[in-house]
Formats: sequence, C-alpha cells, structure tokens
Amino acid sequence: MDKHNLPSLENYLETETPLDKVTHRLLKTAQQLPYELFIETVAQAPIAISITDKKANILFVNAEFSRITGYQPIDILHKNESLLSDKSTPRQVYHDLWRTISHKKIWQGQLLNRHKSGRRYLADLTIAPMLDEEGKITHYIGMHRDNTEQYQTEQTLKNQKLLIESVTNLLPVALVVLDELDQVVLDNHLYKALVSDLDQKEPALYFLQLLREEMAEQWQYNQEKLQGFSQREFRVERKTKSARWFSCSGSWFTQTISLADAFFSQENKRYLILTLTDITKQRKQLEEIHLQSLQLMMAKDEQVRSIRETLLGAMHQILLPMNQIHAAEQILKLKQDEQQQHLLHILQQIQQSGQEALDTLQNCIPTIAQTALMSLNLNQILHEVLLLSQTQLQTHSILVEWQPLNQLPSLLGAENKLRILFKQLVDNAIEAMVQAATEPMILKITTGCDEEWVYACVADTGAGIPAAKRSKVFEPFYTTRQDSQQAGMGLVMAKEIVGQHQGFIEIDADYTLGCRFKLGFPRYNNSRGANK
Ligand code: FAD
Repeated sequence: MDKHNLPSLENYLETETPLDKVTHRLLKTAQQLPYELFIETVAQAPIAISITDKKANILFVNAEFSRITGYQPIDILHKNESLLSDKSTPRQVYHDLWRTISHKKIWQGQLLNRHKSGRRYLADLTIAPMLDEEGKITHYIGMHRDNTEQYQTEQTLKNQKLLIESVTNLLPVALVVLDELDQVVLDNHLYKALVSDLDQKEPALYFLQLLREEMAEQWQYNQEKLQGFSQREFRVERKTKSARWFSCSGSWFTQTISLADAFFSQENKRYLILTLTDITKQRKQLEEIHLQSLQLMMAKDEQVRSIRETLLGAMHQILLPMNQIHAAEQILKLKQDEQQQHLLHILQQIQQSGQEALDTLQNCIPTIAQTALMSLNLNQILHEVLLLSQTQLQTHSILVEWQPLNQLPSLLGAENKLRILFKQLVDNAIEAMVQAATEPMILKITTGCDEEWVYACVADTGAGIPAAKRSKVFEPFYTTRQDSQQAGMGLVMAKEIVGQHQGFIEIDADYTLGCRFKLGFPRYNNSRGANK
C-alpha cells in the first residue's frame, strides 16, 4: 500500500457533524507521525485486524488475527472474510452488516466464526469503511476479539442468577437482599407479594425501620461485626384487612466491589439478607390461648375490683354518719354540760367502734396485682381488650372502628393495669350506648403519637357526659346512671392507673356524637430509657 494513496484522515470516517477543533488538531498531529509507526501499531495491536477490499477480500492481516483465527497470512490473503464464517450466523445479521458498512457507517456486532482447526468461537467484530478523497469506499477495516470466554462467563453468571432466583422463589419465606443504601438487589416472589399485601411500596424499608428502632445500638453493632439476628417478631397493621405478624431474621455478608474504582483498593460492600416469615397463624393460635388466660385473669381482676368497690362503698357509707357523730361530739365538748357527759362518752365509744370497723374494712381491701413495668405496644393492649369484649360487642351489634397507628412507639407500663383501664373504658362505652340505644352504635378506638406522647382515644355514640358533670365522673362513687349497678369507681381507678403511668386522661369537650376519652402516655425509647 502506497503512503501517498492513503485517504485523508478526515475522510477515514464519514462524520455526520464536522470534526471539532480538538479532534481536528489530533488528526493533524497524527498525519505528522512516521508512516511506519502506524504500520507497526497495526501489526502489533492486541486485536485481530484485517483490511479488505470492497468485496471483503482480505488484503492484510496482523499477528493477532492469525493467533485468533489460526490462519497465517499465506492461508488467507485474497480470500473472502466469509472463510471465517461458521455458516450458522443468521442471514439477517450479514444483511444488516453490509447495509451498515455500505452506507459508510461503522458496524459492530457478534458473529459465530470457525477457527482454522474447526473450533467455533464468538467474534466481537467492528467493521469500519475507509473512504478516499471523494468520499467513496475503498477498503474495510475489520477488528475482532475472541469473545467466547467472556460470553461463557456471562452465560454462567446468568444461569447462576436464574438458579438463585429459582431457589429463592421456592423458599417458603419472603426473602430480600439489600445493599448498604437499603436498596433491594434481589428478592423472591413471596417478598413481591408483600408489596400489595401490606400496602407498603417497599416492605423491606418498613421492616428495617422497625428492626432499627427495636434493636437500637445493637443493630449497628451486629452490622459491623456481621452478626445476624433471628426471629424478631412484628405486628403489621393494615388499612382494611386484619393485622399480620412477621418473624424477621437477617444476616450480613460482604462482597468485593466489582467496579473499576475498587480495582486496587479491594474494597468490600456489605449486604443484608432479610427473611420475613408470616407467623400470623401461629400468633393467632397463641393469641387464643393468651386470650383464654387473659379472660381468667380479667375475671379475677373483676372480682377484686368489685370487692374493692363494695368495701370502699361500705366505708363511704360508714364515714357519713361518723362525720355527723364527730360533729355532735365537738358540739357537746364545747357546751361542757355535766349532764351530757354520759352522751358524750357514748358518742366517743360509737366513734371508736366505727373507726375500728373502718380499719377492719380498710385491711380487707384487696390490692390490684402489681406487674413489672415493661416496654409495651398500646395497639396490642387495645387489640386484646377488643378481643376480650368481642362477645359483648357482638351481642349488642356494636360496630367497631379500630384505627391503630402503624408503627406506634412503645410506652413503659404495667400490662395488666393498662388492660384493666381500657377494658373499663370499653365497658363504660358499651353500657352508655346500650342505655342510649342510638343507632348505629359505634365504638371507635384510635391510636396516635407525637414526639413525646403515645395517644389513645376511645369514643362511643352514647348519650355523652354533660359538661358540668365531666370533672365529677372521676370522683369516687359518682355515677351519671341512676339505674347503674356500678358503684361509680371505674373512672376513679382509670385515673389512678393513668396517673401511675405519668399519663393523662380527659374527656374531649369538642366531641358531640357521644363520649370520647383521650389518653396520653409518655413515649418510651429503648435506647435512651423512659422519656420525662
Ligand atoms: P455472502 O454471500 O458473503 O453474503 C451474505 C449477505 O451479505 C448477502 O445476502 C448480502 O446481503 C450481503 N453482502 C455480501 N457481500 C456484500 C457486498 N460486497 N456488498 C453488499 N452486501 C453484501 N463474516 C464472518 O462470518 N466472520 C467474520 O469475521 C467477518 N469479518 C468481516 C470483516 C470485514 C472487514 C468485512 C467487510 C466482512 C466480514 N464478514 C465476516 C462478512 C463476510 O464478508 C460475509 O459477508 C459473511 O461471512 C457471509 O458470508 P456468506 O458466504 O455466508 O454470504
């Protein structure tokens, strides 16, 4: 090939846009380089290079071409490139190849070639047309690599991925793999199904938040030490459907980063495998057993409460005449009448035996069993109270609107006391609605929170409590119902329990459909201990 017949570099490739200044300068510099340098570069290039005429008859091949194809220049010069074809590449591919290059464009693609020895290999080929001064095609340059190994690796990876996906899809648990940015890198069918089941766009993020809150510093520690966690159970509230329970287990693993950035640093990336097992069925069975024991416990509590109320009522009854006798005694003492001394003595004796009777009654008052304070979820307590009241609610056809806040923060409390408290409020609501006989009867229970408090509201559609009586209902032996069997101690006890939890209870003055009690308890943070 004569140096002077070489096409100009600008014509080497037809460009749709004019060459920019930098490229132009580069081409000019290249033209000044010795011609032999280009020859040597092409000859030694680590890619198979062939130069053909317009019909793909080979005019030049370099050393790498011979190495990849097995053909020495003497075997192949003046033969057509089609000699390399395995004849199994679809015609359409060649058609596309020729259409592209004959339109003076570069073609890039994969062809199945046959090595001189007969072995097939996958050629990753680029063909560029060379143009003369008038822009006519004079030659084609073909550059190809043996892509067989890379293709095999890619296919093996693809197959491995398919295998992993098939195996993970067969697992009876929802599985998701997350990277350090909490992005999902792999999931299975059961996990995907959770998206609609739980009304969560990315269920993993929801569970991660719950886990991080519950495990607090432990989460960080486990993550750093790559120590997994297992069977952490969470209740998930759903808007229209019943709540579900999940057991979460997780383990971390690291992988060397495959990006070029980490080529020399060998950095690792951490992943979390999270499995979510639906344990709603098991929890329901446990719940039933728990409910039975709760019913027994509540029956005992009821007994204790009614004995307390009876005894406190009796004491209250005794205290009234005692106070009158005490007043009479004071009057007699003031009069200092000798003749009345006998009467004074009798009054003092009555007072003393009255006091003894009061002391005896006081000693007989049973105390509500104490339970240890623990981190509690108010949703769970209210859910149990609703289950305990289910029969009553159904008997009176009372509609229940249960609207718990998802991810309600915990509070520190005594489980049985809070259960007694809310059972009392629910019992009161049922009684109020049955007495008022309004239709429909609706018991609405909601939970909520702000930065400091966990709230619960219990609302009914009964007659409500008149404004003037709202503060009195928390006083002992006060009842708004004439025919009530109760002694009017329920709300006194409710207030006492709320007080023991540093909370508050109030009647919502703005609520007009019946009566609404609003209660608040300080939030409890596992990692910091109880808030003020
Ligand atoms: P062919 O009869 O050669 O061609 C099949 C179809 O290609 C035809 O129907 C026609 O549409 C089109 N075609 C063929 N020649 C022309 C032409 N001159 N102008 C316009 N359209 C045409 N093929 C390989 O299999 N492996 C290679 O590594 C390879 N490297 C190549 C490198 C270069 C630089 C060039 C220019 C071509 C290369 N080819 C390669 C393509 C090769 O020349 C053949 O076209 C192809 O192998 C099919 O050969 P065939 O005998 O089966 O069919």
